[in-house]
Amino acid sequence: MEELQNFRPTKAVIDLKAIQSNISNLRKHLHSDVHIMAVIKANAYGHGDIRVAEAALEAGATMLAVATPEEALHVRCHIADTPILILGAVPVSFAPYAAKYGITLTVFSTEWLEQLAPLAPQFEKPLRIHVKVDSGMGRIGVRTVEELRAVYDAAQMEHVVVDGIFTHFATADDEETTFYEQQLATFKKLVASLPTKPRLVHAANTAAALVKEHVQFDAVRFGISLYGLAPSPYVGEHLPYALQPAFSLETELVHVKELHNGETVGYGATYEATGDEWIGTIPVGYADGVLRGLANQEVLVQGMRAPIVGRICMDQIMIKLPKKMTVGERVVLIGKQGNDEITMQEWASRLNTIVYEIPCMLTTRIPRVYNA
Ligand SMILES: *Cc1c(COP(=O)(O)O)cnc(C)c1O
Repeated sequence: MEELQNFRPTKAVIDLKAIQSNISNLRKHLHSDVHIMAVIKANAYGHGDIRVAEAALEAGATMLAVATPEEALHVRCHIADTPILILGAVPVSFAPYAAKYGITLTVFSTEWLEQLAPLAPQFEKPLRIHVKVDSGMGRIGVRTVEELRAVYDAAQMEHVVVDGIFTHFATADDEETTFYEQQLATFKKLVASLPTKPRLVHAANTAAALVKEHVQFDAVRFGISLYGLAPSPYVGEHLPYALQPAFSLETELVHVKELHNGETVGYGATYEATGDEWIGTIPVGYADGVLRGLANQEVLVQGMRAPIVGRICMDQIMIKLPKKMTVGERVVLIGKQGNDEITMQEWASRLNTIVYEIPCMLTTRIPRVYNA
């Protein structure tokens, strides 16, 4: 069958120019010799890994980072040559493919390297690894000078190159810097203990890259603000340049009707009209990731805010319109319309969570279309 798709008017519009402006502004903010690693894990935080990677590389990023082998392979199928770092732990069984496809692995265990040793002689190309230091995040990595030295020594084998060393901050997006300073000192101490410095030392995530001095090292790992989102409200208030959000979520009215005093809307009949009201229906719901917890959220229609009424359904949502409108009217759930804007941070606050969760929770049923 021919490829029939996107009949439903619900779509995510991804603005690649916004992605590029976020990279080029970061480029100006950093020292000129610092690499920008575009973090495109989780399908580029829901924005689409390949299109985002291509846009970011064009705008000045020189490396890519993902979370899993599957993500790395998907990116490598579309993008040749550019270094791709897998930030998470990977099984040794993936190492031959990493070597073959030029994918850099995160390593922090001598046992892992001992299991690698019998495989490495068969590698046709060298396997690049970055050693992970756990300086306080408590997630993955070596924690002491001794552990680091053991991993570093175990990695001295043919066809394996220790290309980098890195750590990850737990509190870089916070106003309070004591813990961050401790992590930085620990990381510096461990790096200094090595007999030779690997080519790439890196520590900064978005928050550190934007609001901390002196942690740029050789590369920054730029995730959330690549997409124009601030890592935390604190960083949002201290940005060195304005971020451009790349993601809009839009749909259209598919039905409009007038309800009268006492008539109800939705499952549980929880919303009751208190007079004559215009109610619109939009074809999007919790199966798209517009969670039921957003029941008090508003949407934009003709530049005006319209509240969601009644319970959010799996595939449909009802909204109270400011006036009579026609089927086909454009409705913005996330993004700008007229003089108003609904941000992902507004959704995050409504859901009592962090902005990172919002683009990740919008499911693949929503097609991503690109504006370039
Ligand atoms: C996800 C991740 C990043 C990116 O974090 P942002 O806050 O989105 O910039 C950087 N480093 C590591 C290790 C990560 O897991």
